Amino acid sequence: MSLFQPEEGRLAPGLYIVATPIGNLSDLSSRAATILGQADAIAVEDSRVTAKLLAHIGTKRQMIPYHDHNADRVRPGLIARMATEAIALVSDAGTPLISDPGYKLVREAREAGHAIVTIPGPCAAIAALTLAGLPTDRFLFMGFLPAKAKARADTIAEVSAIRATLVFYESGPRLGATLAALAEGLGGREAAVAREISKTYEECVADTLPALAARYADAPPKGEIVVVVAPPGEAPLAGAVDADALLVRALERMPAAKAAKEVSQATGLARADLYARALELKAR
Ligand code: SAM
Repeated sequence: MSLFQPEEGRLAPGLYIVATPIGNLSDLSSRAATILGQADAIAVEDSRVTAKLLAHIGTKRQMIPYHDHNADRVRPGLIARMATEAIALVSDAGTPLISDPGYKLVREAREAGHAIVTIPGPCAAIAALTLAGLPTDRFLFMGFLPAKAKARADTIAEVSAIRATLVFYESGPRLGATLAALAEGLGGREAAVAREISKTYEECVADTLPALAARYADAPPKGEIVVVVAPPGEAPLAGAVDADALLVRALERMPAAKAAKEVSQATGLARADLYARALELKAR
């Protein structure tokens, strides 16, 4: 029996890593559906979430909760079962192991000599990269930034010189603070906020980091979010930054001096020049 052709009948024993949709259930591949329908058991993050997916494909399988809080306890049993049974691994959404549990399961399955198969599919980071319109030849997946301001700033500083597009996972309530920290640490680079990918309210808003920070400062969006940031080489040169646009947006929220300071920090342009320009813009 081939591990790779489950249509032939019962699945061979081993570990099957199955990517599931990130919003739109129609994105489940037919191969993923076949594997999930034939697995002897499925390791799941949240059985309520996976039960909905299984109902969508008209199947019921044994589900074994496997998440950050029980993984060390549950893993040995899963590994033992892989010797004789097909064990699938899914997360609540997207590709397991990507900001989700699973890497130790894969490592220990390999060490135990079990067959391991991946069923590729949706991943929010990759989907966001396809929407952002930023270079994709090199990218660095950063997952979630730390919640605390100092740790977040330190992490951003660590990657500020890396010549790759940066990809961050984020949630609506934290988006404003994250964009402000990215603007502070990375300056006026181009970026994109991709939201609710594959769902009804999917959108991708592209602008400079300071402009995005201003846009979302007091208006946290709903839903799931990926922030994509251009590499340093792709940032507009200081003189070419559309400082007027940044100043106009900043002036909507603060006086000229503060606006000049914010735009100066974001772009590296001289604060005095920006202040003079802000006064001109205000006088218009
Ligand atoms: N394993 C998943 C994957 O392959 O993308 C990621 C799981 S991680 C716990 C959840 C984060 O992924 C969300 O907070 C958000 O940043 C991102 N995400 C998941 N679904 C998304 C969607 N439909 N649109 C935008 N971002 C999404």
